[in-house]
Amino acid sequence: MLDDNEFTKAKELYSLGFKNAKADRFQPLLKYYKDLTGFKETEAAAIMHHQISQYGPVCNICGKPYRTPAAIFCAACGDRID
Ligand SMILES: [Zn+2]
Repeated sequence: MLDDNEFTKAKELYSLGFKNAKADRFQPLLKYYKDLTGFKETEAAAIMHHQISQYGPVCNICGKPYRTPAAIFCAACGDRID
């Protein structure tokens, strides 16, 4: 998962990939993600779903993200947000 600053850079690299006709056009984005996370992602589009703030705050009970910023309860443990 990427924080908002990391995600902004990833989005820039993703946009540049669309402007590049070469077969390895998303290589700069895939390398950036691998350097940040250690995970060798092969699908550039998947990285566009890896912005941690898209998944809402972290649950105080189980530590998992609430899944959306508008969630009213934790899908993992059922804890309700007050
Ligand atoms: Zn929870």
